[in-house]
Amino acid sequence: MARTRIPLIAGNWKMNGLKADALSLARVVAAGVKQEAWKDREVLVCPPATLVMAVAEAVKGSGLLVGGEDCHAKASGAHTGDISAEMLKDAGASHVIVGHSERRTDCGETDAKVKAKAEAAWRAGLLPIVCIGETLAEREAGKTLAVLETQLKGSVPAGSTAAKLVVAYEPVWAIGTGKTPTTPEVAAAHAHIRKVLGGLMGDAAGVRLLYGGSVKGSNAAELLAVADVDGALVGGAALKADEFLAIAKAA
Ligand code: PEP
Repeated sequence: MARTRIPLIAGNWKMNGLKADALSLARVVAAGVKQEAWKDREVLVCPPATLVMAVAEAVKGSGLLVGGEDCHAKASGAHTGDISAEMLKDAGASHVIVGHSERRTDCGETDAKVKAKAEAAWRAGLLPIVCIGETLAEREAGKTLAVLETQLKGSVPAGSTAAKLVVAYEPVWAIGTGKTPTTPEVAAAHAHIRKVLGGLMGDAAGVRLLYGGSVKGSNAAELLAVADVDGALVGGAALKADEFLAIAKAA
């Protein structure tokens, strides 16, 4: 039987936040999560690496989860400026985003690198959120589903199970632009992702598939109601406590 897919609302703070403001944002979100005491959804914030430990301490006991935005594939060593999955775990993280399109673009991350990072997350006891998504040119060329398939096959490690993997579908052209695909387009992408996962692992029906790209309080209910959408990865709106909590409430 398929594992129950508990919706996950994840906030990606990106390279935003100095300690005072970040902690006050985290505390307001944590207070909202604590008050709701949801058993039927999970809420996660992924602050920049410098703030993971402070945020994890600040929200302890609230039910709000904390994750990293990226990790290196290795556990330690001569990798100046990088952060390992073990370091994130040590700082209080439970999840890590890997393969975000900004890292694929800014840092040249390949599918193989993303896969290694997801494996590193497992090694450290973190749950990886593997991001995939097509560019505007790829969508306009009718290549969306093929691109998603290639990225999935290259980025999802062997040995994946529903309990060990979250996938986020983030059309690159929808990130930070205010544009979103139509709900049938989201449904088609998510159905295809689940079908491809079915060829890669046994319990693909239980994997949570998040949608990401310009999710906000006002469109969350519609996007989260789409078949095979099991949560959201939220960028800009995650930096505003009420917007982010409104998205969590819509889940
Ligand atoms: C993201 O960067 O993961 C994202 C979805 O950003 P935004 O919500 O701002 O589009």
